[in-house]
Amino acid sequence: MPASILVEVGHLHEAASTRDTTVRLICPSCGSVHVAQVLGDNGGVSYVCTACGHSWS
Ligand SMILES: [Zn+2]
Repeated sequence: MPASILVEVGHLHEAASTRDTTVRLICPSCGSVHVAQVLGDNGGVSYVCTACGHSWS
């Protein structure tokens, strides 16, 4: 995972402060902000871009 993504996530978490499962992240594949936060089976968190379908964690 590129360090730049960690920076984006931390920054946007502060800005968002939302209890919604959808947070404003930026897709590393297409640059869309339409990204859903998804809880994984192991309790981890991953992200799925609703614009292009790219997923990452
Ligand atoms: Zn995307």
